[in-house]
Amino acid sequence: MLNLSGKKALITGVANKRSIAWAIAQAMHEAGCELAFTYQTERLEAGVRKLGDSLGVAHYYELDVTNEAHFTRLAKGLEGDLGSLDYALHSIAFANKEAFDNPFHEISETDFLQAHQISAYSLIPLCRSLRHLLGQGDGGSVLAMTYFGAEKVVPMYSLMGVAKASLEVTARYLANDLGPDGIRVNCLSAGPVRTLAAAGIPGFRELMRKSEHVMPLRRHITTEEVAHAAAFLLANTGITGEVTHVDAGFNILAAEGQGATD
Ligand code: NAD
Repeated sequence: MLNLSGKKALITGVANKRSIAWAIAQAMHEAGCELAFTYQTERLEAGVRKLGDSLGVAHYYELDVTNEAHFTRLAKGLEGDLGSLDYALHSIAFANKEAFDNPFHEISETDFLQAHQISAYSLIPLCRSLRHLLGQGDGGSVLAMTYFGAEKVVPMYSLMGVAKASLEVTARYLANDLGPDGIRVNCLSAGPVRTLAAAGIPGFRELMRKSEHVMPLRRHITTEEVAHAAAFLLANTGITGEVTHVDAGFNILAAEGQGATD
């Protein structure tokens, strides 16, 4: 069993109890890690606090990644409240729902840029603002959540697939950039999980139904499986710049099996 006692982690991306970030927070807490949470908006704050309080989370910060000032406030807050940080989870994504209604070549500049700003670029200011906190002691690590649509065309994933590809490459460049400071940056590519973000992708339920019988494990992953892998990836000191799949083996299939997603 992973022992994270004495470690401190920032968890972004908790919206509700279905959030992957919430499952990861629980796994980190079980391993003894002290946690701080961010919430995207005041509207979400009470719900996020209710969940966090049940794990003894003492520090909460507003973080809308489109607001540069929030990153500055977050870093100052963490500096005062925790002094240093061992781990940071990036579990944030957004794309305009209407962008999925049209063929990919119809995607507007506005929707493209917004999806990339929130889902991919945000990893950079997160690392930049936390760098001095993560680089202390024996170094720290950052983990970002991604999906297989970054690697191969999953038609319904559309714009988000391109944003996730950008996120994965961004993580690799950050890994190289921050490695000398002892900071690791990795991605976890999770199989489909029913969450609020997933509900914004038309055809998601259908994808889960159709792909289940072709998965090597013949079932979908659980959020707990993702959470335990995330905690491991955050803690392991030898892995950086990697994309690790926790997807019941879906990514190893040749096109015929993956055709279940058409
Ligand atoms: P979720 O809706 O619970 O989490 C998405 C989070 O993004 C929310 O907490 C939301 O507040 C946050 N967010 C959106 N816009 C933001 C902004 N401007 N500033 C700050 N935060 C913002 O859904 P989830 O499925 O848990 O998603 C978490 C991550 O996991 C995402 O990166 C998602 O792409 C990824 N992922 C999800 C699945 C899946 O099947 N659900 C699979 C692979 C990867």
